Amino acid sequence: MAKIQMKTPLVEMDGDEMTRILWRMIKDDLILPFVDLKTEYYDLGLQYRDETDDKVTMDSALATKKYGVAVKCATITPNKARMSEYNLKKMYKSPNGTIRAALDGTVFRAPILVKGIEPYVRTWKKPIVLARHAHGDVYKDSEMKVAGAAYPVKAELALTDAEGNETRQEIFTFKNDGILEGMYNTSASIHSFAKSCFEYALDQKMDLWFSTKDTISKVYDGEFKAVFEEMYETEYKEKFEAAGIEYFYTLIDDAVARVIRSEGGMLWALKNYDGDVMSDMMATAFGSLAMMTSVLVSPDGVYEYEAAHGTVQRHYYKYLKGEETSTNSVATIFAWSGALRKRAEMDELPELKQFADQLEEATIATIESGKMTGDLAAITTLENVTKLNSEDFIKAIAEKLTELRS
Ligand code: NAP
Ligand code: MG
Repeated sequence: MAKIQMKTPLVEMDGDEMTRILWRMIKDDLILPFVDLKTEYYDLGLQYRDETDDKVTMDSALATKKYGVAVKCATITPNKARMSEYNLKKMYKSPNGTIRAALDGTVFRAPILVKGIEPYVRTWKKPIVLARHAHGDVYKDSEMKVAGAAYPVKAELALTDAEGNETRQEIFTFKNDGILEGMYNTSASIHSFAKSCFEYALDQKMDLWFSTKDTISKVYDGEFKAVFEEMYETEYKEKFEAAGIEYFYTLIDDAVARVIRSEGGMLWALKNYDGDVMSDMMATAFGSLAMMTSVLVSPDGVYEYEAAHGTVQRHYYKYLKGEETSTNSVATIFAWSGALRKRAEMDELPELKQFADQLEEATIATIESGKMTGDLAAITTLENVTKLNSEDFIKAIAEKLTELRS
């Protein structure tokens, strides 16, 4: 069979450790035999980031802006231990942070559901996708301790504009020791967040839920609510109605209760802290971090696909010692299928879209036939399970894929 042709290259961001090993296997066994793959390759492996003073990360982000779709391997965010392990010139920032800032994007996390890996919540039948507003709030706050002062101590919010005009508002008058916190967000960032959420919901034909605590935080959370509402009314109402999907706002505590009782199937947009907490709960509740995909969507419609997990360092050290590993490649495979499908949609390539669908189908069918990696074998409800090593799992998927395509 002739290989599937592409038009525009995918931006390929290679990465580190065990996921870099899986990356090569996925390309060799699952993609290159079927697709005449066109990529513009950026090596975000830590060694090359160091050689280029991290310029390669920014270059890859700019290429993503130019072409519209990227697929990224997990990468090391350096800490002290990595500084000496890789003999680094600098403690570089997280590549994901750099790319997110350059694309002004929102991260959407979606679980991959398969029979035999059951969500802990019995009612969930469809994936729940989370969108976290990864900007500001408590993550960029200023905090103070009020201690041992000459009481009373008056705490105020104070604004000083460029002309020196001041606006002040009392927060609290302390008669004794306490604590204080100030935080902010920007209208531009809230708008980008809202736009990315509406775009993703339309793209995936999913209902969009948004929740804050605007009854208590009338100005701060109230602003988030107002931005979403206005954008919905002016830009998305008709598009949503045409697509048969809904926008639904409710209070965060009500949303939590409703999500648990639901069948799933919605996109749930959350403020920064809510998203931080809920995404860890969701990943665990759906079964495994290794079955969670992540896509960064910019408000102007640029997409970057990856797995939600890291470089699986512990497995990599075993691999280096020549020991067998059983690392789950599913989320990384779905990053590739997601990126190829998006490229296919943008370039109108039905064969490539079909391939992306088949790659996912083959992956799911392999697990559902009882062949899986150790992390899944440990939690599956299926019987007669074969635990495969990293490479044999990918080979088993390749066999299914070949069957599907013949
Ligand atoms: P991790 O790579 O996600 O792995 C944590 C543990 O989760 C693993 O040791 C393993 O448990 C399990 N696990 C995760 N993914 C798995 C998979 N695909 N298959 C099987 N088991 C899997 O997190 P980490 O060890 O904390 O971080 C390692 C490096 O990744 C760090 O340098 C960090 O900076 C980086 N990181 C990158 C990204 C990203 O690029 N998006 C995200 C997070 C972390 P067992 O050991 O029990 O088998
Ligand atoms: Mg967290």
